[in-house]
Amino acid sequence: MSARADTMTEQTIIVALGGNALQPESERGDIHQQVAHTRESLGAIVALARDGWRIAVVHGNGPQIGDELLRNELARAEMPPLPLGVLVAGTAGWIGYMIQQSLQNALERAGIDRQVVTLIAQVLVDPEDARSEPTKPVGRSMDAAQAEVLKQELGWTSRMTPGGWHRVVPSPIPTGIVEAGIIRQLVDQGVIVICLGGGGTPVYRDPVLRLEGVDAVIDKDRAAAVLGAAIGAETLLILTNVDGAYRGYGTPAQELLGELTAAQAEAMLEAGEFGAGSMGPKIEAALAFLRAGGRFAHVARLDHGLEAVRGEAGTVLHA
Ligand code: ADP
Ligand code: MG
Repeated sequence: MSARADTMTEQTIIVALGGNALQPESERGDIHQQVAHTRESLGAIVALARDGWRIAVVHGNGPQIGDELLRNELARAEMPPLPLGVLVAGTAGWIGYMIQQSLQNALERAGIDRQVVTLIAQVLVDPEDARSEPTKPVGRSMDAAQAEVLKQELGWTSRMTPGGWHRVVPSPIPTGIVEAGIIRQLVDQGVIVICLGGGGTPVYRDPVLRLEGVDAVIDKDRAAAVLGAAIGAETLLILTNVDGAYRGYGTPAQELLGELTAAQAEAMLEAGEFGAGSMGPKIEAALAFLRAGGRFAHVARLDHGLEAVRGEAGTVLHA
């Protein structure tokens, strides 16, 4: 076996890479920039691979799905637009390819013999939840007139958000991963599996049709936590663009939280310390992971992944 099973630690980690990490909002984000950021973001994964961790990688797709939606919108007179679930799978494919190739090159340079594969996975959600009030903004900002045209022509629901008019979609809570069994087999053999890009494609089980896709997006940190529980991971590592979770974030008195028990994190979540739609879902995901049997959940800056796992950086949540 080429996966160096002899040197594996038998500890499994889920690494969740932030979407903004691969394409910062400040950049136009052509493919060269995206590949460059992808390469920079893989240091922690290479280091964990060297230390013998079993690894699955989940990544965001916020900026990229926004670009796909715009491409479909601009081309709608020529080509029928693709549904959101299909576009999520599309971005998971091509972003997965960028991560896969960059990681293969980085591992080879480091002399680490591990295989890497990207896999398209479906995430189970409750169909009622998937049809609930759309709250998650996706895509570019528009003016009210554009929002009305796209409602008429494409059936989009849009809302005024702090960043302008945006299409909004439901963001159902993930309950399981259809392909968890094969992901676990591969990860246990030492294969580094890249999956659930953009949170994975949401599906539900219909008694007649069986698996059916829905037009919604799943939070990638929540999906990573469900995957961790499904494949028996000990550790969840959420990498993003801040040093960790803060108390009083954005105030002069902000304070980085080094270590939190689940009970402390829950109380702070209830008190509204963590931004809805950003740090909030990360802390919720960390708590869900711990409740499902995970041991440690870390939130850290993208380039501090290894230090975080060693307890030297970021925020760690534990029972
Ligand atoms: P990602 O693309 O990595 O998922 P998000 O933008 O969703 O990134 O989440 C990270 C952001 O969460 C930070 O850039 C920060 O602006 C925001 N945030 C909100 N509340 C907090 C908090 N209490 N501590 C740290 N960051 C916070
Ligand atoms: Mg996010």
